[in-house]
Amino acid sequence: MKHFIDKKLFNIMIKDRLVRTAITKDNFLLFFHFYFAHYVKYETADFQKEIMHYLQNSATENLYLCAFRGSGKSTIISTAYSLWAILGKQEKKFVVLFGQTKAQAKQHMMNIRHELENNLLLKKDLGPFQEEDDEWGAHSLVFKQLGARITIASAEQSTEAAAAIYISSVAPTLARGMAQNTAAALARRPLAPGAASTSFLFSPGRAVSASITEVTRTGSQADRIAARTIGARLAVRTVGIWQTARDDLVCPICRPLHGRPELGPNGWASRVPGGSPAHIGCRCEIVYRFEPLAGRLAGPRV
Ligand SMILES: [Zn+2]
Repeated sequence: MKHFIDKKLFNIMIKDRLVRTAITKDNFLLFFHFYFAHYVKYETADFQKEIMHYLQNSATENLYLCAFRGSGKSTIISTAYSLWAILGKQEKKFVVLFGQTKAQAKQHMMNIRHELENNLLLKKDLGPFQEEDDEWGAHSLVFKQLGARITIASAEQSTEAAAAIYISSVAPTLARGMAQNTAAALARRPLAPGAASTSFLFSPGRAVSASITEVTRTGSQADRIAARTIGARLAVRTVGIWQTARDDLVCPICRPLHGRPELGPNGWASRVPGGSPAHIGCRCEIVYRFEPLAGRLAGPRV
């Protein structure tokens, strides 16, 4: 196998911190093939180079990636990129790794910790780290010298817990609300004897559409509570972005809201204060983004 980095240069890099820092700071591809050389058993595939290229250069805020099992995406992204984002030119101070489940999130963290404990050069260049836990289950690796941290979180548990709280707080009100609406409608226009079976008030259609709307609302509120809890615990700003289903069925109420943040003159909250669902049958979602609070996460720049 042809080595990605010339053997002679590789040896100089091992000996000289300044050389390896200078070479790897701007280039994630070289960072990976140097600090993670022990993972490279075969020549790096083009699609893997492409992944590294996008992580290093992508101008977009969001990068979505699908790759097959065993393609190296976790090693490249969760482990190596988390560290290069801090050590490299991006100089990130706060890396958050979200796993779908708590177990997945923990696994990501274990992989990183394993590198930090066993990879001597990485250990030297990142400086000592310490682990911090908070009562809500978030787990962080803190690099004091660089003023940076890597935190893991899982969306699943927070959202489930938030949904349970939300349901128990609103279900009685919702049920009462529906009963009151029904009573009010009946008071306005009493049903003739025997007409209940054909009335919209007692139809499966009303039950189904109310259920869909309320399940959507519960999901949406749970996401919101979970996102805000996570944001507060991590001391970051939580920004909710409106996301339509982006197909032909999106209604005129929701279409213009797509991509807008919650607050500000163009924010969706000025039109639909309650968020999603904006109307019966609304399929929109609010997607949460976390942003550093100005100043709080700024560490020393090297
Ligand atoms: Zn909608």
